[in-house]
Amino acid sequence: MKEETSNNSRRKFLKSVGLTVGAAGVVSGFSLLGAAKAVAQEPGETVNLLTQDGQLVQVDKNQLRPTVSEPLTELQKRGREGIAGKSFVMVIDLSKCRNARKCMDACQNHHQLRPDQHHINVLQMQDAEHTAPYFMPKPCQHCDNPPCTKVCPVDATFKRQDGIVLIDNERCIGCRFCIAACPYSARIFQWTEPKDAEKYKDLTYNIEANVPQKKGTISKCLFSADRLRENKLPSCVSSCPNGVYYFGDQNEDAVTNGTTHETVRFSQLIEENAGYTLLPELGTKPRVYYLPPKNRAFEFNGDLLNEENLH
Ligand code: SF4
Ligand code: SF4
Repeated sequence: MKEETSNNSRRKFLKSVGLTVGAAGVVSGFSLLGAAKAVAQEPGETVNLLTQDGQLVQVDKNQLRPTVSEPLTELQKRGREGIAGKSFVMVIDLSKCRNARKCMDACQNHHQLRPDQHHINVLQMQDAEHTAPYFMPKPCQHCDNPPCTKVCPVDATFKRQDGIVLIDNERCIGCRFCIAACPYSARIFQWTEPKDAEKYKDLTYNIEANVPQKKGTISKCLFSADRLRENKLPSCVSSCPNGVYYFGDQNEDAVTNGTTHETVRFSQLIEENAGYTLLPELGTKPRVYYLPPKNRAFEFNGDLLNEENLH
């Protein structure tokens, strides 16, 4: 049976007072005092808070008190620390992607997602009017300088020593600041009860799989951190029939193709194929690299004539 953690209780408490701590800058690390204590205080400086329905309200600073950090469970600790000595990296070869979408299916099955929810999405791309269209799978880029983690007011999303950016949904209060901060649109919000909620409800929450999913919290690509512990490749990498994905450890300078199982030098693969990252000018330092869509020997079967499908 799943244990009710103290962190979960904290999230419920914040919801019960109808306020989300964070907002407008400087109030993370504080919670509201009980009403009886608050009336005994002299009015003082006010601070801005964001309510759960997105309204900015002003609150007397005397009504706030520092929050006490709750101890983490073993699963939370392990999930936060990551795998020592590793520096995970993904390479996506755009010259091979045929829009098979097996990566999307595998990811959705692994992470309790509905067909309309994506940790990884295959986009139709065309760089200019007369250039050839192509398909581009886009997961979380697991940035080394991630803007998403810096805005979280409760330390629910973080970067691990092995390079993976994760979310602890026992702590997430659903403010969605991280969604706004991510320049790659890599995060989704669980607006409704997750798929198969009844089936998953008694499982102990695993921070490395983000399962069971929780209504009112965030979800995104995790590089299948739970599978990496078992020395398995991520679900998307293993399920591609077309050799699009390489995954491995940058410290060892080695990546393995999920289809052919061939292991190659990461640095050589990037250098010889003019590999690149998305939006490098932002300084986010992604850990997902792309090889350009060159020399493709198959027809593009997309629908780019429809402007709505362009990205
Ligand atoms: S892609 Fe977005 S969600 Fe992923 S680490 Fe970078 S900023 Fe964060
Ligand atoms: S929604 Fe994002 S920023 Fe807000 S608490 Fe959850 S992980 Fe942190």
